[in-house]
Amino acid sequence: MDFGKHKMNWAGNEVRRVRRTGPVDIKPEREAIKVSVQEEQPYNLQFYRKPPTTDISLEEFETTALQRFNLLKAITDIKESHKVYSDEFVKAMESLLSKEFPVGFSARRGEWNHLNRKDQRDWREKDLIGHYILRLAFAKTPEDRKWLINSEMELFRFRFKNETKELTKKFLRDNSIEVEPVSSTERQELSELLEAACAFIPGQVECTDFWKIKFTEASDLIRKRKCLLRAGTAYLPADDLQIIVTGIFRTMLSGSLARLYKHLPNLQDEADRILPLLERISKNAYSGKEYSGDNANGITRHMIDALSAEFPLCMRTIHQRLRADHHIKHGARQQYGLFLKAIGLPLDEAMAFMREEFTKKVDAEKFEKQYGYNIRHQYGKEGRRKDYPALSCQAIILGAPPSAGDCHGCPYKHTDPKGLQSRLISTGLTQEQVETIMTLVKGARYDKACTRQFEYARGMADGGLGTLITHPNQYYEMATQVRDGKRTEEHTQLMVSQSVDDSTQLELKHDVTAIPEDSMDIDY
Ligand code: SF4
Repeated sequence: MDFGKHKMNWAGNEVRRVRRTGPVDIKPEREAIKVSVQEEQPYNLQFYRKPPTTDISLEEFETTALQRFNLLKAITDIKESHKVYSDEFVKAMESLLSKEFPVGFSARRGEWNHLNRKDQRDWREKDLIGHYILRLAFAKTPEDRKWLINSEMELFRFRFKNETKELTKKFLRDNSIEVEPVSSTERQELSELLEAACAFIPGQVECTDFWKIKFTEASDLIRKRKCLLRAGTAYLPADDLQIIVTGIFRTMLSGSLARLYKHLPNLQDEADRILPLLERISKNAYSGKEYSGDNANGITRHMIDALSAEFPLCMRTIHQRLRADHHIKHGARQQYGLFLKAIGLPLDEAMAFMREEFTKKVDAEKFEKQYGYNIRHQYGKEGRRKDYPALSCQAIILGAPPSAGDCHGCPYKHTDPKGLQSRLISTGLTQEQVETIMTLVKGARYDKACTRQFEYARGMADGGLGTLITHPNQYYEMATQVRDGKRTEEHTQLMVSQSVDDSTQLELKHDVTAIPEDSMDIDY
């Protein structure tokens, strides 16, 4: 792939300096695609060890990345709303893959076999290229890398679990992992030993598929005494093989992203071509929808106190600080101002709302001079006259952290554990619910923590919302739906299938990076 002054391969390694040859060649039609290695494989499973060697147009680059991103986002939503590997989970995954990603099925299944050769080849290319573009887009921050690794692992796990024994063996052997399925005769002979070694209940061995693997590949299971070890070979159930192989995939992907991160500065020459594209893709990871304002909602400043019951913790914190101190600093003004605009507060009401509070401490002239311009700027009435969207959780979480006296940011990320705990308790959650949320916070799952808080505060079960909170305005939108009886746990299934469809419509328009530095001091 030609990145101008520097040439990087798809794995992110600089290979050699090349001469830039003028403007990018945006090809309307795809030219010769060189993925013969992928075509010859009898299976669809991928460790993505070999980067694509393909020339693609920028248009294809963007489309393929978006399709992959939408797929992973939809998988995250399915995982959030169904118990993993329950019948509903499998049904939702199969429905998603058959519509959006047939290469996710085994090459022995009808969903794949009914495709013609060209479609099969195209899907394998898309799989490889989409994966590698998302590596580029999501290598930059630990949060991004984590999101990509978890999402790709979930997809890989599902594909692996549904592969036939024959193709699993071929796939693993091609990747230098020597495995052999245990025949039913051998399983019968070793029945008692397997039952004891794997702590199975009587009869469980007969209905479980076992695999043989070199003991060095199963050291963790051996250490935990969870498999049968015989003559240097570990005998383990299919589920444990899947755990081992998924772990290998995770290690490889995580290592590749770490290496790629180091080489990202080589992309600086692409500041006006590839980089903005990658930036927009990763920014949308946490926000499929753009919220920039709907004046038709008829919201006035007098309604804000009552409406704040439906605000996420981040916005409630800022609102309470504003009411208490009659002042909030720049970061909070941006975060809260754009949020209020997006829920439908018109400019004149926003001005009056802030003026009423600020002028308790400063005179009206100073307010107009120092703060009025900024509010009008948020509404696109000053400076570049851009209609700025509200900040997503991603932008808030990765933005400049609050320092002393600030109250912006995400409480799950930026508040100390003790402060967060008492904040959550004060919202009426039980100790047990708070502990669940704190465990998620500890694992840096801020989106999940916020989603649980939403559910607990509204008497829903874990996962009852059916999706993850990725945007403060999404939180507000859903909270008002629940308040108005338009969204209940029973609606969740329907909502999930709709959100899967909606996510395929996602467009890259969340351009928060275009906000000038003088007016938005959020560091992305
Ligand atoms: Fe606000 Fe998002 Fe943090 Fe929730 S996760 S508190 S909506 S920034």
